[in-house]
Amino acid sequence: MNGFVESLKCIKCGKEYPAENKFTCDYCGDEGILDVQYDYERIKLVINSDLQKRKYNIWRYRELLPISYSAELPHLEIGWTPVYDVERLAKFIGIRKLYIKDDGRNPTNSFKDRASAIGVLKAIEFGFDKIACASTGNAASSLAGLSAAVGLQSYIFVPEHAPEPKITQLLIFGANVFRVKGSYEQAFELSKKSCERFNWYNRNSGTNPYLVEGKKTAGLEIAEYFGNDIPDWVVVSVGDGCTIGGIGKGLQEMKRLGFINRVPKLLGVQAYGAKPVYDAFFSNTDLIPTDVNTLADSIAVGTPRNWRRAVKQIRESNGTMITVTDEEILEAMRVTARLTGVFGEPAGVAGVAGLKKAINNEIIKYNESALIIITGNGLKDIRSAKEAAGKEYFIEPNLEEIIEKIKLIIKRNKI
Ligand SMILES: *Cc1c(COP(=O)(O)O)cnc(C)c1O
Ligand SMILES: [Zn+2]
Repeated sequence: MNGFVESLKCIKCGKEYPAENKFTCDYCGDEGILDVQYDYERIKLVINSDLQKRKYNIWRYRELLPISYSAELPHLEIGWTPVYDVERLAKFIGIRKLYIKDDGRNPTNSFKDRASAIGVLKAIEFGFDKIACASTGNAASSLAGLSAAVGLQSYIFVPEHAPEPKITQLLIFGANVFRVKGSYEQAFELSKKSCERFNWYNRNSGTNPYLVEGKKTAGLEIAEYFGNDIPDWVVVSVGDGCTIGGIGKGLQEMKRLGFINRVPKLLGVQAYGAKPVYDAFFSNTDLIPTDVNTLADSIAVGTPRNWRRAVKQIRESNGTMITVTDEEILEAMRVTARLTGVFGEPAGVAGVAGLKKAINNEIIKYNESALIIITGNGLKDIRSAKEAAGKEYFIEPNLEEIIEKIKLIIKRNKI
């Protein structure tokens, strides 16, 4: 363990535990998500002076990660994904200044690699040679890729209806894949039981306290990249709630360490057909599990495990939440691709749809600035992409046909 880690603290009742292979609080059960606590005063003394010498990936924040200094790091490059200043998308959305951070550029093409990297190292540290998770897709493909990189065997539980490209990623990385005839929730429960029964390390980021530490690296990066010029809003799509919860934690840590003088407001975006976190946020009550119905499979979570952390981080940032329809998500997919050259999957661009709606509803003002995290690459869900994209022209090999089609193209000339 990293010597700056102090304990694991229950985010519900506050009870602290030694930072070992532990999942949830003894008193609060599954609701008692544990949060890694650090000695920030000591971290402050080392990190500022040493940072410039380090490589640009998630491991540059070693003091803020629950990983021992002797751990052998995966060779895949994770994190420090590019930030783009996207003027044409800003204009379309109606905001003065807009950035996107393309996390589809991670090794297995989603934000989840940040968490899986921590997951495989914790598995090795705790003496496991097998690791498992349940996922609608990206956590799984990411775990499969990272396991392949470090030489762990992976067991993956996916619901029946996961996009094929994501399943293909699992198989090519050599994961053992169980496609569960049922929902994500059923796949989740089965993976949990299997971990207990067969002694596999559980990478489920809802309850594993260490994985969110990987997710927070995006918050650390945004803060280091912008410093005090940090945008007013950071926009994140929300399923389980770990991503936004993690990013919020990372931003708060960087304020504490003096990298930024304020924490941006968080805008959490859920699909209209899967919005239990949104409902809990606005009703001020405990989360009520819901059915899900959205094409954004990566955020189609009816029983989020980490909703409390998400709600807490959004509140502490003075942020808010919004929902978007599948039509708005498909539009965002198309528009983001056409106005920035960045191709995101539905959940990956839900933030674009959410920001546009927040501007239209005057929740966010024109003269503010925002950064949207594009959480996953568009090739992971070709079916939705094709729905968003429109059709190609099938033609005979002659110039007359081209002339005909060009007339159509001129008429169509819109995004
Ligand atoms: C997992 C995921 C999210 C949401 O993260 P949560 O931690 O479940 O809230 C968003 N976008 C993509 C592409 C994802 O894979
Ligand atoms: Zn507790």
